[in-house]
Amino acid sequence: MLPPAPPESTPPQSAPPESTPPESTAPESTPPQSAPLPFPIFLPLAGVRLVLLGGGEEIAAKLRLLAGSGATIEVFARSPCAGLAAAITASSARHHARAWAAGDFAAARLVFIGQDEPEPAAAARAAHAAGALVNAVDRPEFCDFLVPAIVDRAPLRIAIGSGGSAPALSRDLRARIEAAVPAAYGALAAFCRDWRARVAAALPDPDRRRRFWDGALAGRPAALALAGRSAAAGSELAAALATHQAAPARGRVSLVGAGPGDPDLLTLQGLRALQTADLVLHDCLPGPRVLELARRGARRIDVGKRCGRHAMSQAAITRLMVGHASRGAHVVRLKGGDPSIFARAGEEIAALEAAGVPFTVVPGITAACAAAARLALPLTDRALAHRLHFLTGHGESGPAEGEDWAELAARGGTLAIYMGARALPALAARMLAAGLSPATPAVAVENATLPGERRIEATLGTLAGALGACSGPALLLVGAVLARRVAIASARAVAA
Ligand code: SAH
Repeated sequence: MLPPAPPESTPPQSAPPESTPPESTAPESTPPQSAPLPFPIFLPLAGVRLVLLGGGEEIAAKLRLLAGSGATIEVFARSPCAGLAAAITASSARHHARAWAAGDFAAARLVFIGQDEPEPAAAARAAHAAGALVNAVDRPEFCDFLVPAIVDRAPLRIAIGSGGSAPALSRDLRARIEAAVPAAYGALAAFCRDWRARVAAALPDPDRRRRFWDGALAGRPAALALAGRSAAAGSELAAALATHQAAPARGRVSLVGAGPGDPDLLTLQGLRALQTADLVLHDCLPGPRVLELARRGARRIDVGKRCGRHAMSQAAITRLMVGHASRGAHVVRLKGGDPSIFARAGEEIAALEAAGVPFTVVPGITAACAAAARLALPLTDRALAHRLHFLTGHGESGPAEGEDWAELAARGGTLAIYMGARALPALAARMLAAGLSPATPAVAVENATLPGERRIEATLGTLAGALGACSGPALLLVGAVLARRVAIASARAVAA
């Protein structure tokens, strides 16, 4: 029989502190790969009847954990261990020095069964018959729910569970979070709780309210609350609230460089912008793994071009950006690599300035730097390359049109060529005609830092043939500084 669904949603804000037990009741067996995932919830227990069976230390740990929940707790233990006896004394739990009977589960919502319970199956059946959910220590077959590993920063609480797959990993993660989240987060959470209703009344619009809290948590009110100065934090917050209420909703734009695609290569500033975004206007380059880092409630619009076809005109992108920001949204304009390199940032910045929309530019790792890193090569070198040219192989009027290749060839240095893979045969022909030697080292990196990365180390004379067709973005690098890489690749080819 299925027990009734437990109460859902937010626990009362006044939930008291709890201890932090290990994820002790997780099943030992490995669930199949496609095992359904348990759903985590926080369960308010004030006034709820709970039954604990057994006299062991694990029941003592549960009691310590539950003691501050406001629940009515009954412990059935013929001979409680010292730890349990102490926990019973310290809590308001009622102790019954006898075995359970079926009537003991009446109106109980949760029943915990300890390891020393001689008849766990019968106890679980009786608990279910009374409509309770059961947790049996180390007996996953009787468990309706698992107890998570908990990081306690009351009233803030972080619960970690692996659905029984990896309790040790849950504990390890808990230890890391314990170390990373200052104890003062509890004070900050209490501060937020105390101000929540007042802020909600002052700012009924949920988007404005969220932005207000984002600002408060990133600014002085949170810093003061974390430092234990809640009165000063309150004055700051009240002042900020008054200003926020009086001011018209004012949005902003962050022009963010997403880097070459690996989310680890996004900057912390870029991450913060994404996590406070209302709207993300993205090109196709940043890729799904970076987009996943955006705030869950943020709207995402793909405004990128594919195969030279514009999904949205530049004018339409600018209109969207300015329009939403003017209505108070935080718009993140997310671009692959760095926004200042072949990304039409100039036009967007001019439009934002003309419209008087506040904006910031967050740099990103450009494809040339990512490719050089993946090749473990510098782009400049004291002996081999005194200059670095960022070029596009896709000019307004065709491949490499208008570029003075003879001049570039004469000056030397490293050429980083964006959007040049498709036109590579024509580009190479021009460079050779301009006087660059066919033996000049030339390298292509497709999908740099992304799954399916491909690195081709060749020469100007051979690169186009070696690269062939590309399905992802590819960057070309040409110049003497690449010689070491090309030499290694040729040596490898000879050896093979
Ligand atoms: N603003 C971007 C460049 C945009 S132009 C930057 O700073 O990197 C698009 C071109 O960038 C692509 O055609 C390709 O040449 C290059 N590119 C972008 N991401 C890349 C990647 N992960 N690997 C290789 N080349 C990439």
